[in-house]
Amino acid sequence: MSKILKVKARQVYDSRGNPTVEAEVFVKNNSATAICPSGASTGTYEAFEKRDKKNKRYLGKSVLSAINIINTKISKKIKGQNIHNQEKIDALMINLDGTRQKTKLGANSMLAVSMAAKKLSAKLKRLPLYKTFFIKKNFQLPYPLMNIINGGAHANNSLQIQEFMIRPDRAKNFSDAMRICFVVIKTLSKLIQNKGLSTSVGDEGGFAPMINNNNQALDLIVSAIKKSGFVNGKDVSICLDVAANELIKKDKYSIHSKKFISVQNSINEYKKMIKKYKIKSIEDPFAENDWNSWNKLMKVTNKVQIVGDDLYVTNLERLKKGFLNVSSNAILIKLNQIGTVSETLDVIKFAQIIGFKTIISHRSGDSEDTFIADLAVGTGSNQIKTGSLARSERVAKYNQLIRIEEELGKKARMNKIH
Ligand code: PGA
Ligand code: ZN
Repeated sequence: MSKILKVKARQVYDSRGNPTVEAEVFVKNNSATAICPSGASTGTYEAFEKRDKKNKRYLGKSVLSAINIINTKISKKIKGQNIHNQEKIDALMINLDGTRQKTKLGANSMLAVSMAAKKLSAKLKRLPLYKTFFIKKNFQLPYPLMNIINGGAHANNSLQIQEFMIRPDRAKNFSDAMRICFVVIKTLSKLIQNKGLSTSVGDEGGFAPMINNNNQALDLIVSAIKKSGFVNGKDVSICLDVAANELIKKDKYSIHSKKFISVQNSINEYKKMIKKYKIKSIEDPFAENDWNSWNKLMKVTNKVQIVGDDLYVTNLERLKKGFLNVSSNAILIKLNQIGTVSETLDVIKFAQIIGFKTIISHRSGDSEDTFIADLAVGTGSNQIKTGSLARSERVAKYNQLIRIEEELGKKARMNKIH
């Protein structure tokens, strides 16, 4: 057994240039670090992210109080614990916090420590991180849900929908999946340039051209898929993250244009869109408290993956509610929405038991930390959503999956989409 000697935290910066927490957990002669990511279109029910709102020197964005909590309270609490007992380490932090949304310690303090402990345990066992979760053999690689056009809160254009993604459904292996996405993205880049639009990218690396309606973005993507020699809806599927929390006003939604329309009309528009563009997956089609509308959509869509992100916020109680309400058939998993590795694993296990697809996700503010790539493989998650083939914090996760596939060699398999 290796005992934790101490935890040391430092303020580093995320991909948006905002301060974030890095924690380093120490045992004798060894240590490991982890960095906490941060969202922009966050759900109300997410665990609390501690920021020093009053610290003017950092424009209210610093995380120095979270750092201080790790260096004092958390370090003291978990000192002497067995580094391999992740559940105990997480439970000690959860109890020390004692609040529902982790407002006392901050989920950003807790998660950085939790992930660093997990990494250090793997390092000491001399195991790659992906082998230390609950899948122990027959490892499968996730399909990338690659973000190629950014809108909503992630870009300065006026697209209503936040993320337009592609998924290479017929890829034989992960490297092939990456090649397919690479070709479509390069083709899309040319199409955007030919229209005289900018190929600058948004927070998650997808293009953010100054276009203002969803269909324009979808038409561009369909052309890119075709021009690349692939069949839309077969070789490559279009997937969306609507992030509808940002698009609701008094029970009406502005998903399909700037105009706010009723839920029933929004559903009709979704149906048209699904048919025309062969959309295979829609994340957060309605807002986080609008359970009824989710269920209505589930009733009229067939074989479309409906994904809860802000709806579930990686929270077991909310997932159970969604299961009973038939709100969706898939869940997005974000570690910092709940705040510890153990709780995240509980949610993934439950989701898989009830037949939901699990999709491991980055945040729009992310870092060089590749923890989620290993988490996807180690939990047998079907898909990973970690941005485009641009911005190193996004590409780092894909590169890690390429390494994992290579290490698995002939044993490597793709997960199942259908
Ligand atoms: P966020 O965006 O990290 O800004 O919440 C990602 C998403 O909505 O899936
Ligand atoms: Zn989302």
